[in-house]
Amino acid sequence: MPANNDFSSLFAFLAIGAYRASPDGKILRVNPALMYFIGASDEEEAITIGNSSASDWYVDRGRRQEFRQALFGEGRVAQFESRVRIFGGTEIRWISENAHVVKDDHGEVLFYEGTVEDITPRKNAEAALELALRRYYALTAKSQSATLVCDIDGTIRFASEAVYQLLGFRPHETVGASVFDSMHEEDRARYQQEFERLAADESSGEEAIARHRHKDGSWRYIASLVSDARDDEAVGGFIVYSRDVTDAHIARMRLRSLSETDSLTGQYSRAMFERTAAEALERAHQLRLRAALFFVDLDNFKLANDSYGHWFGDQILIATGRRLRAIVGDGDIVGRLGGDEFAVLALLTDEEIHTLEDRAATIVRELARPIRVDATQFEVTVSVGVACYPSDAGSFSELLRFADQAMFAAKGASRNTYRVFTAALEKRVRERVNMISDLRRAVANREFVVYYQPQVDMANARLVGVEALVRWQHPTRGVLAPGEFIDAAEEQGLINAIGLQVIELAIPQIVRWRIEHRCDLRLAINVSAQQFRDGAFARRLRILLQRYELSANAVEVEVTESILLAANRDGRNVIEDLRNIGVRIVLDDLGVGYSSMAYLRQFTVDGVKLDRGFVEGLPDNAVDAAIVRSIISLTRELGLTLVAEGVEDHAQRTYLLSERCIVGQGYLFSTPLSVDEFERAGWLWHVAPRPE
Ligand code: C2E
Ligand code: MG
Ligand code: MG
Repeated sequence: MPANNDFSSLFAFLAIGAYRASPDGKILRVNPALMYFIGASDEEEAITIGNSSASDWYVDRGRRQEFRQALFGEGRVAQFESRVRIFGGTEIRWISENAHVVKDDHGEVLFYEGTVEDITPRKNAEAALELALRRYYALTAKSQSATLVCDIDGTIRFASEAVYQLLGFRPHETVGASVFDSMHEEDRARYQQEFERLAADESSGEEAIARHRHKDGSWRYIASLVSDARDDEAVGGFIVYSRDVTDAHIARMRLRSLSETDSLTGQYSRAMFERTAAEALERAHQLRLRAALFFVDLDNFKLANDSYGHWFGDQILIATGRRLRAIVGDGDIVGRLGGDEFAVLALLTDEEIHTLEDRAATIVRELARPIRVDATQFEVTVSVGVACYPSDAGSFSELLRFADQAMFAAKGASRNTYRVFTAALEKRVRERVNMISDLRRAVANREFVVYYQPQVDMANARLVGVEALVRWQHPTRGVLAPGEFIDAAEEQGLINAIGLQVIELAIPQIVRWRIEHRCDLRLAINVSAQQFRDGAFARRLRILLQRYELSANAVEVEVTESILLAANRDGRNVIEDLRNIGVRIVLDDLGVGYSSMAYLRQFTVDGVKLDRGFVEGLPDNAVDAAIVRSIISLTRELGLTLVAEGVEDHAQRTYLLSERCIVGQGYLFSTPLSVDEFERAGWLWHVAPRPE
């Protein structure tokens, strides 16, 4: 650039400092602005100050070298910002320099010249801003919520430290990316709309929740509030305030799914089952399909709960739900209706409707398989009721009601079975419902009587004892056997009261017979599992024995395997209470359970009753015979008494006697008899003599 002096006036009036210097850095000219800047009163003084303090001019000593390298290397320097000392080093100010080299026609450097702008105010402002920003960063970094500034298209301009807490990214990693990048695609459109609404000034101004992918791969629920700060020069975009609401959101979702699934078993809750099943019926209607509802109710759940505690009961329910889910079809709907009730809804074609009973039977069979909880095996059986849509019921609620009724009938039959709804069944169910209310009245009115069945010495047909068997003297239906009401009584919690009525009748009766006939007649009484739950039975028994002065060892309590099992786990062992009283404990129906033999040793019972099922096959059924023989020898070795149940013919009697099973009970000798019948039959004249 050739030298020219045409701009000398400009040089003089320029508001920013300007100078010219020789190639070696000697100041040649200084304009007034620069003169004032360095505190000189005229140009000469300014040049003197400039040249004398040249080496001290820059606060950072390396700056001078950098300046010269840039200038002579590239021929020019632009916006070279440095701190400089002025007024003899008493003041430090920021300057921005621009400079260029001026050469002659041969390329020789003539001089260089440049401008010096005081940028201290700007720098101070920047520093203040920087400080404010740092303070802001410091504050937001500690904050649980992150603040973003982004463009209208979502591009992030600024992110506070807390984005790290929120999504695992450092703020600088997010700048330049889009807020929508980490967002779940299902939430994205909704969010973009919110941005658009905001831009159009139509935002709801409400916090919106979207899923964002954390750097660790997990999804986080982030609630954000967006505000438009495009008019604010300091921001110039949307401000997004975000906080992590994952925990709260999950808790809320859990709460919702709680009502959808049963929290214990994980199957559908009643409400959810009803909803989906009703929808399935709609579908069935449209597709001309049928639907079958299986109502599944556990038979002996109460026993599990009462004897092993609620945790155990819970495990049974969980296992049952899981098993049910596994055996039904994938498309079938499974739900827990409450308590120990489950339901399955299956859509079926016309052909498949014939598989209905098979399906019900499968449920009954599969659920009856023992369930293992820790070291305990427990057998739950179920009663299943089935009703069909549209043949039986036209609506879901009707379907549920009829399946329930069919289930009720299955309970009434023998439990551990299924029943398919029929109109006739409905009638029977109604009877059973009536029966239950009857039963309550019967307990209050003491409508129960005791029948006595002889236990005889099969060798000489002499009476050795009696088993007390309860009967219900129904006002209109006559004498009812336990099979007709015991289950219902257990279900209704009435069995304890009935059991007490039985011993209150039987003990005085037996004492009367013993006195009248001077004999040692034994009394066997049956108890249900529930009677073992509270100590009332044992207490009452003790009182009655004392009151009637009956020797405790004249009384046998017939317990079932499940009672023994429960008693063994129970905190308070009623078996022990009974043993302390001195009554004998006899295992009823030996052989019915799958593991009874083990109990003989484990629970030290005093005797056993050989189940009628084994006696039935004697003497021809080789397996039964073998089992009976081994039971007989086992009881003998363990010193247990043995009574064979259900002896109906002479061949059985002969066989048992030949194997040295002496005491028998059964229709061969007598059916259970009322007191009157018993006395008239003359049994008491054949009583075994009191041993002297
Ligand atoms: P269990 O204790 O096994 O009683 C024997 C059952 O077999 C009695 O039925 C009896 O009538 C029947 N039986 C006797 N001999 C023969 C025979 O030769 N052939 C056949 N096929 N059956 C025979 P029952 O009286 O109907 O009692 C049924 C069950 O009800 C009893 O079975 C017992 O478990 C229960 N039970 C009876 N009385 C009571 C009671 O007072 N309390 C409780 N908790 N349960 C009772
Ligand atoms: Mg019995
Ligand atoms: Mg029995």
